[in-house]
Amino acid sequence: MDSDLGPQGVETVCEVCEVELDRISEVAQLTDQDLELLRQPRRRINANIPVRMDDGSVDVFPSFRIQYNSARGPTKGGIRFHPGVNEDEVDELAFLMTLKCAVVDIPFGGAKGGVQVDPDDLSPGEIERLSRAYVREYHDTIGPHSDIPAPDVNTNAQIMAWMRDEYERIEGRHAPGAITGKPPELDGSEGRDSATSLGGAEILDAFAERVGIDSTETDVAIQGFGNVGSHLAAFLDERGYNVVAISNAAGGVSNESGLPIHEILDGYETEHDLFTVDAEEISNEQLLTMDVDVLIPAAIEDQINGSNMTEIQADAIVEMANGPTTPKADAYLSEQGVPVVPDILANAGGVTVSYFEWVQNTSNEYWSKDRVQKKLRKQMRMAFESIAERKTETQNEWTWREAAYSRAVDAVLTAETFRSNIPGGTDQ
Ligand code: NAD
Repeated sequence: MDSDLGPQGVETVCEVCEVELDRISEVAQLTDQDLELLRQPRRRINANIPVRMDDGSVDVFPSFRIQYNSARGPTKGGIRFHPGVNEDEVDELAFLMTLKCAVVDIPFGGAKGGVQVDPDDLSPGEIERLSRAYVREYHDTIGPHSDIPAPDVNTNAQIMAWMRDEYERIEGRHAPGAITGKPPELDGSEGRDSATSLGGAEILDAFAERVGIDSTETDVAIQGFGNVGSHLAAFLDERGYNVVAISNAAGGVSNESGLPIHEILDGYETEHDLFTVDAEEISNEQLLTMDVDVLIPAAIEDQINGSNMTEIQADAIVEMANGPTTPKADAYLSEQGVPVVPDILANAGGVTVSYFEWVQNTSNEYWSKDRVQKKLRKQMRMAFESIAERKTETQNEWTWREAAYSRAVDAVLTAETFRSNIPGGTDQ
C-alpha cells in the first residue's frame, strides 16, 4: 500500500484540509484562536432514522448533518446517501464547503449531510420515505436562512423535490429556498446540471490566458465521464481544446488528434459505450500519466498519489473531482513546478449555481439558462482573478492551492472578526 493512503487505501479529504491549514497557518500566521475556530464544526447533529420498508418491517439508518461555519451566511451543503458515510467524512466535507463558498465569494457558510445507506438496496418508495424522514429529523435546523441542503453522492433532483415538499408540509408555507438542486420544473435553476463543468471550463480558460497557452493548441485528458467529466468534455471541445483522452470506471480511450466528443455523447448510456469510437483503448492509470498539457481528474478522490506521482507528465492539473490529489503528490508536483488548480476553485461552479437557485427562490424571479451561465462565468472569473492576484502578491511562491485556501480562510476569519468571535472585533 502506498504510504500516503490510509488503512483502506483511502485518504480522506480532511487530511488534505489539515495539511493545508497547517501550511496556511505558517504563511498567513494564523493564531491558535483562529485555528481553534477553523478546526472544528460549529454544530454536529445526528439521528438514527426509522423508515418503514415495503415488507412492513422498520429499518433504522444512522444519519448526520454538520454545520461547519456560518460566519459568512447560512450553511450550505449536500446530503449523500452511501453505506460508507460517517461523521468524520461529513465533518471534512462540511469544512471543504465552507472554503469553497468563500473562494467563490457567495454569501454562504459550509455544511454537509449524509445517511448511512446503500440506495441500491431500497425501492423508490423506501428512498422517498427515507428522504422525507431525514427532513423531519433535521427540520428545526435547516431552512432558507439557516442551513440549505442540496444533492450529493446518490441523491438527485427528485430527492430534493421530496425533501422540499416535506419541509413545506411541516412549515405550512411555500419555502423553495430551503433546498437547492431541485428540478427546474419545481423551482430549480436552469443550468444547474452542467454548472460544475461550465465553471471548470471557465477556470481553465482563465488559467490558459494567464500562463499564455492557446486552447486550440492544448491537449487535455479527462478522467471520469459522469455528470462533471462528460459536460466538461463537451464545453472544452466547443472551446477548441483538443480532448485527447477520456475514461470512466471501465477504462478509457485516446486519440492524439482529438476524440469526437459529441459523437460519443450522442449514444452514451453505459460505461462501455466509450469503446465504440475509433480510438485506442487505455487504462485509467495510462490516462493519468499521459504527456498532455492539462490533466483533469473528474472521477473520484486520491487518483494522483504517492504511487503514480513521479509518472505524471502533464504540464498542469485542474481538479474537478473533490480531493483527487493526495497531499504527498501535491507537495511533489509543487516541487516539480506543475501547477495544480485546486478543487475548491475549479469545481465550485455547482455550488455557485445552487446559490443562484436560492436567490431566484427567495426573490421569486426566475432566470434563463443564458443569464445563469453568464453570471456563473463572471463569478468564476472573479474568483480566479482574486486567487491569481494573491499568487502575484507572493511572487508566485504560493501554489494555487495555498492561494485559494488562504483567500478562503481570510474571508471566514474576517467575518468571524466582525462578529467579534475572535479578537479584533469591538465586543472584547
Ligand atoms: P458521477 O457519478 O456522475 O461520475 C463519476 C465518473 O467517474 C463516472 O464516469 C465513473 O465511471 C467514473 N469513475 C468512478 N470510479 C472510477 C475509477 N476508479 N477510475 C476512473 N473513473 C471512475 O459523478 P460526478 O457528479 O461527475 O462527480 C465527479 C467528481 O466531481 C466527484 O469527485 C464529485 O465529488 C465531484 N464534484 C461533483 C459536482 C457535481 O456538481 N456533480 C460538484 C463538485 C464536485
